[in-house]
Amino acid sequence: MIEKMELLDVDKLIEEFESMTKDAGNVQRETLKKILEENGCAEYLQNLGLNGKTDPESFKACVPLVTHNDLQPYIQRIVDGSSSPILTGKPITTISLSSGTTQGKPKFVPFNDELMETTLQIYRTSYAFRTREFPIENGKALQLIYSSKQSKTKGGLIAGTATTNVFRNSQFKNTMKAMQSQCCSPDEVIFGPDFHQSLYCHLLCGLIFRKEIQFISSTFSHSIVHAFRTFEQVWEELCADIREGVLTSRITFPSVRSAMAKLLKPNPELADLIQKKCLGLNNWYGLILELFPNVKYIYGIMTGSMEPYLKKLRHYARDLPLISADYGSSEGWIGANVNPNVPPELATYVVLPNIGYFEFIPLKENVEEAKPVGLTEVKVGEEYEVIITSFAGLYRYRLGDVVKITGFHNLSPELKFICRRNLMLTINIDKNTEKDLQLAVEAASKLNTEEKLEVLDFSSHVDLSTNPGHYVIFWEISGEVRDEVLEECCNCLDRSFVDAGYVSSRKINAIGPLELRVVQRGTFQKILDHYVGLGAALSQFKTPRCVGSTNNEVLQILCNNVVKSYFSTAF
Ligand code: AMP
Repeated sequence: MIEKMELLDVDKLIEEFESMTKDAGNVQRETLKKILEENGCAEYLQNLGLNGKTDPESFKACVPLVTHNDLQPYIQRIVDGSSSPILTGKPITTISLSSGTTQGKPKFVPFNDELMETTLQIYRTSYAFRTREFPIENGKALQLIYSSKQSKTKGGLIAGTATTNVFRNSQFKNTMKAMQSQCCSPDEVIFGPDFHQSLYCHLLCGLIFRKEIQFISSTFSHSIVHAFRTFEQVWEELCADIREGVLTSRITFPSVRSAMAKLLKPNPELADLIQKKCLGLNNWYGLILELFPNVKYIYGIMTGSMEPYLKKLRHYARDLPLISADYGSSEGWIGANVNPNVPPELATYVVLPNIGYFEFIPLKENVEEAKPVGLTEVKVGEEYEVIITSFAGLYRYRLGDVVKITGFHNLSPELKFICRRNLMLTINIDKNTEKDLQLAVEAASKLNTEEKLEVLDFSSHVDLSTNPGHYVIFWEISGEVRDEVLEECCNCLDRSFVDAGYVSSRKINAIGPLELRVVQRGTFQKILDHYVGLGAALSQFKTPRCVGSTNNEVLQILCNNVVKSYFSTAF
């Protein structure tokens, strides 16, 4: 027990990381060898004719690039309870549900102890670098983390989101302790059956332990913004609970209530203090520092589809450092943020060469059958799609993420996350990615600042029911905004898609005027609730930035909540 409580040796962790990245090429070969040796007996690999070979050349020659769809029949057999080695040598006993917010419905991916170990390795690595720059004291963390429902599949396997599988693993807590990052909320709150109730209790625990809180974190930073937006609504109720020492009747689950009862004691002084602080704030600017005076930083994934929330996060955090967490997926981890003092907009991730075998498909234009290259062969400045070979039964798996190589840390590349590859607004020859959309929204929302409104969240859709088809952008905004301003925003959105295919199509009306649809307050919360209902967890939630017609339910939520719509007159 005592051993587990010991703090991590930061210098040793950094030294290990440095020596591994200095030898990235060899470490990759060794990692592939290990993966193939451990899993060579799996049916999937047996059928590919590797015959025991473990070198990268044979691997690439024998094993095809695959997508989740290709592996689906194998994964389904595992889910249904087949205990023969299908994708891995050792049987898979746990399944992760990827958030599915990009595709519309959750995907099943295998989870195992090896994946757990790589998760902890990446946590430890970035912690070491973070702590060197921003030391924390032995306190607590306000971790806005949530578990999804863990269920049993037809075949008896445990299924939950990847984060749930991680949080439920006994090693998670020990590692958090060793990283001085113990969650201030009891397990009953993290694993509570209703995330609205868990969120409320997380906030309450944070306030009870306010002086001890060293940092605030979540898996994806959306959860942090979501939590403090909720705080704006419920702060008086929180204060009342603290004043009386009695939990609001809104929290109904007995396990959560009894866990909270152990922490909640009447504390009128604290209630007065929080009330005073809240009333003294101007539009909640600097809220986090007021509530938690000893917080050193905010931590969570802030890149990619999380970037649009940075503005709000900065508003709450004032000058506290915002540190983006690592880069990974339910399928496996990829890279750690080892430069924590870089602002999230510039954050990059160094690939850990021993947590998987990585290949990269170059995305230069006009290359039809681009050949994947190895980890150490990527070129600075170029964009690639990431391919993972993991310890959990994925071989040459196309993750669908686009990254840009910004440099090397020793011999291991540093990646900047760009976007999901398949998230694309396209009608004919136009191609606009999630990133292009994000930039357009950013440009258009800047027009708003004088009106003091805020784009709370956004999504998009290609509407082909009109002739010609056109882009639809959905905005949820705060405040009343004049029509003229929104008309101008709509024009600005249309002009901001600078892709040559789009601009030329717009000029000849091969693509119709862009439409800005303003949706009611709370619409994106309904989308979140919809995904949580499907088994997703708030921890892994990512607002779908482009909703296809196949994702009918989400599209309906958006369309049914439109309050105003504007067509561009920019062209
Ligand atoms: P999930 O479905 O929850 O497994 O989500 C994994 C996906 O989240 C990845 O494939 C990425 O698209 C995105 N993601 C994960 N980490 C980051 C990061 N650090 N920056 C940007 N996007 C990320």
